[in-house]
Amino acid sequence: MPEQNRVSKITYKILYVGMLSLVMGCGDSQSEAPTADGHTDAGPRVAAPIIGQIDDARIENAASEPGNWLAYGRDYSEQRFSPLEQVNRSSVGRLGLAWMKDMGSNFAQEATPIVVDDTMFFTSSWSIVYAADARTGETRWRYDPEVPREFLRKACCGPVNRGVAVYKGRVYVGSLDGRLIALDAGTGQKVWEVDTVTDHGRNYSITGAPRAARGKVFIGNGGAEFGVRGYVTAYDANTGQQVWRFFNVPGDPSLGFENPALEMAAKTWKGGEWWKIGGGGTAWNSLVFDPDFNNLYIGVGNGSPWTRVIRSPGGGDNLFLASIVAVDADTGAYKWHYQTTPGDNWDYTAVQDMMLAELEVDGVMRKVLMQAPKNGFFYVLDRSDGKLLRAHPFVPTTWATHIDMVTGRPVENAELDYLNEPKWILPGPLGGHNWQSMSFDASTRTVYFPAQEHPLIYQLSDEYKQNGFVKRNPSTMNLGLEIGRLSQIIDENVDAMPASAGYLKAFDPLTGEEKWVHEHLHYWNGGALATRGGLVFQGDAMGNFSAYHSDTGEILWQFQTYTSILAPPISFEIDDRQYVSVMTGAGGGDHFNGYVNDTATIQYGNFGRMLVFALDATEEIPVPEALDRQIPIQPEITASAEEIQHGDVLYHGYCAPCHGINAASVGVMPDLRLMRPSTHQTFHQIVLDGVRSGMGMAGFSDDLTPQDANAIHAYLISRANRDRQAALE
Ligand code: CA
Repeated sequence: MPEQNRVSKITYKILYVGMLSLVMGCGDSQSEAPTADGHTDAGPRVAAPIIGQIDDARIENAASEPGNWLAYGRDYSEQRFSPLEQVNRSSVGRLGLAWMKDMGSNFAQEATPIVVDDTMFFTSSWSIVYAADARTGETRWRYDPEVPREFLRKACCGPVNRGVAVYKGRVYVGSLDGRLIALDAGTGQKVWEVDTVTDHGRNYSITGAPRAARGKVFIGNGGAEFGVRGYVTAYDANTGQQVWRFFNVPGDPSLGFENPALEMAAKTWKGGEWWKIGGGGTAWNSLVFDPDFNNLYIGVGNGSPWTRVIRSPGGGDNLFLASIVAVDADTGAYKWHYQTTPGDNWDYTAVQDMMLAELEVDGVMRKVLMQAPKNGFFYVLDRSDGKLLRAHPFVPTTWATHIDMVTGRPVENAELDYLNEPKWILPGPLGGHNWQSMSFDASTRTVYFPAQEHPLIYQLSDEYKQNGFVKRNPSTMNLGLEIGRLSQIIDENVDAMPASAGYLKAFDPLTGEEKWVHEHLHYWNGGALATRGGLVFQGDAMGNFSAYHSDTGEILWQFQTYTSILAPPISFEIDDRQYVSVMTGAGGGDHFNGYVNDTATIQYGNFGRMLVFALDATEEIPVPEALDRQIPIQPEITASAEEIQHGDVLYHGYCAPCHGINAASVGVMPDLRLMRPSTHQTFHQIVLDGVRSGMGMAGFSDDLTPQDANAIHAYLISRANRDRQAALE
């Protein structure tokens, strides 16, 4: 550990008492601001907290602070490789639970913690921020942005949050309802807050972690499924003033363009009125700052709606959907782009994590960017100009045969065009890889990441087929697919459905070689962390948190958490003790998919927790009882077959995105086949009047009539009876 850091840590211990007085409200953080670098040699009389003093230089030189995890991907390169090795192939058998913190939430946990000195900063559901003693889990402060719970209906994938940025004594968090909030790192008190949303008539949300560099904080948003126009904004880290904004897709051309890049992009949208639905192109996850070129890389999401014929009936690539866009970090000016999926037709976002590295490619050292987006190809680009260097498939990609390395474009499989009839396609909208973290060991040129095979049957919306256009529905998803009849379409084509599978892969980004593959029991698993201890850590759907031999994939250690896991593990070291952390709690984009396999969350519940492990630690996790998932006897119904069918379509259009296809929940939102008598009796109050909006279940009386609610209720009872009967047989 560098000497300066050691000094700051000692100073910190002296000052912690002073900080506590601030937390208790006995101090004045405004008048006792920390010095610019935080490494003061001030005596104990100075009460200012010095925690969270991360600056550009510390992030760029993170290699000299192996014990800290200073930024989302550990440093600006976002390789997520921990240089720690106390926990290694020989010692990992002694790894045990050091502390556990209950989040009091049954929603998915997705955060990457930031660990600086001995404080861990992380987020939980509803964008709530915690600062905790990283050795014990003791809360130092907690900040709740008080996101209105009915906002759950406006976000696709639960009230999730992927973490904070810590920078120059501040903690930055994006709230689900679209605010960017700066907190004092020492006290958790709010310093400033800005509303990042340009149009509150549209369902914008924030789930991603901000990034901070060069005095600015960068944040994007989500909401493409609901019909929005995506953008990224840079704010002055100190004041919260907007510095620049880059829209990822063009708006209505008759209103002019914000910059020349969008004028160029608009030429690739043809014949439609995409801006009325939104266009899409949200940057809801990956924003990576590159100090080598002073670039910010924007990982841009899918089209809104998903189907290109509706957005752009005249064809075209629809820039910058599904692209990696490089902009100047100071001005937001466009530099270059690479589009992974021209004319995206499948929800193939390129928002997945991006890593920066230097690799020898064909005999030349190059500064590269690597990404495994949803479309199933692993890309290596030259960061100087966006040139495509490699694009190997990492899962079956039935939508395209390969990437043409001359044109840099995918060669689509015409047989799977779903313009006229439904087609099963791999990857589906969960992607061959999603936001779950990947980790790069540069010494062996190996990327470790969770990959998956999970298909969707794509069918163009009935409304579009009948009318030639789709009207945006402001209060639910606008996919351009036939979602209402999805259950029926699946039933009719179930024999052709490709199987689902999930993997942890050790992958060479240049050759496309799989060095090893561990196949999981379920497709939807956690992020990966590789360490210099020769280990790869990953949590899975079955509740196992595992350490794999990084050369062979052999499982060397495993811990049962009794909850499915998505979150990225990280590692840090304090007082010569290495820790490995991971959050438990699944869900996210998987809500729609219904019940497949007995995941830990299905078996026991979805316990949102932070778990931290260290050698020879012996804390125990409570062992839950298995849930009773037997479908109860249902109330009598008198609905006609037509009413039940109507309820099926409404259910899949409005309810299934959270409660699951065929009313089978993945275990996060309530499984509506298991409703109790009291829920049946208050069905209208819940579904229409919103009596449970405080829990996130907003009322739908603006969209649904009492007759609609009756039809949905009848469908649910009918579906429950069908599944109950099947279980008894
Ligand atoms: Ca999407």
